[in-house]
Amino acid sequence: MKFVKTISEVREIIAGWKKDGFSIGLVPTMGYLHEGHQSLIRAARENDKVVVSIFVNPIQFCPGEDFEAYPRDIERDMKKCEEAGADLIFAPDACEMYADDFSTFVDMTGPTEELCGKSRPGHFRGVCTVVSKLFNIVSPDKAYFGQKDAQQLAVIRRMVRDLNINVQIVGCPIIREADGLAKSSRNTYLSAEERQAALVINRSLAEGRKMLENGEKDLKKVSQKIISVIKQEPMAKIDYVKTVDADTIIPTDKAEGNILVAAAVYIGKTRLIDNFIFGEA
Ligand code: AMP
Repeated sequence: MKFVKTISEVREIIAGWKKDGFSIGLVPTMGYLHEGHQSLIRAARENDKVVVSIFVNPIQFCPGEDFEAYPRDIERDMKKCEEAGADLIFAPDACEMYADDFSTFVDMTGPTEELCGKSRPGHFRGVCTVVSKLFNIVSPDKAYFGQKDAQQLAVIRRMVRDLNINVQIVGCPIIREADGLAKSSRNTYLSAEERQAALVINRSLAEGRKMLENGEKDLKKVSQKIISVIKQEPMAKIDYVKTVDADTIIPTDKAEGNILVAAAVYIGKTRLIDNFIFGEA
């Protein structure tokens, strides 16, 4: 497995691979890798070569968020990448990605306007910008994103379509801890007590899913149920619980097509997200 920090090194390696006719899969991450990331790397092994980017992207954090505190451990990440079968890690410093006078951004309306886009203004502008840059640097055939960040996946799909970027986007299922908590690098912020309290998120969503499986068509009732379950946990504070169309991220109250049921909840100071998709596909 190779490890590089500069764009020119990545380009050189990729050029060699392309010359040899190898297909390339890209897994963009912010590091502090867990089995969720590793499942993406494993899925990407359907390509001849797998590139993992590790970059805590400063421009996707809002002022006052956890950019400084975000967990980082590159040695540990290298082991996880190797274990899952990556061929190249690209771990640039911020100055490699953003010149002092960097001034070009990828901005999107539509799917960015609800859910996390509302709670985290500028977040998706940062995500779209960095992911575009990674696509331009790596020029992968396929790129892998987790359903854990369902809105991000919808946003990236829209960006690729709108800007005619020549990459196939592959969505991968949410990987959970044995007790149901969605794996997240941010879970490391939780105290033992908070870790226990955080189970309410998946538990509440499971209640919502049960209603849908039993034929409930009114998504307002589903949201209300989820909210009521979360409110029973004193350590939890709801940022949002919403039902939207899974592709357009437009809010809807009717259980038709593919519905994304998404929640963002503070457990103490830690903001966690989780979701499920219910529908035809
Ligand atoms: P992050 O490092 O948090 O930016 O995540 C990098 C990629 O891993 C994103 O596409 C996430 O959706 C995905 N990911 C993070 N956690 C999980 C999980 N628990 N299951 C599946 N994919 C995940």
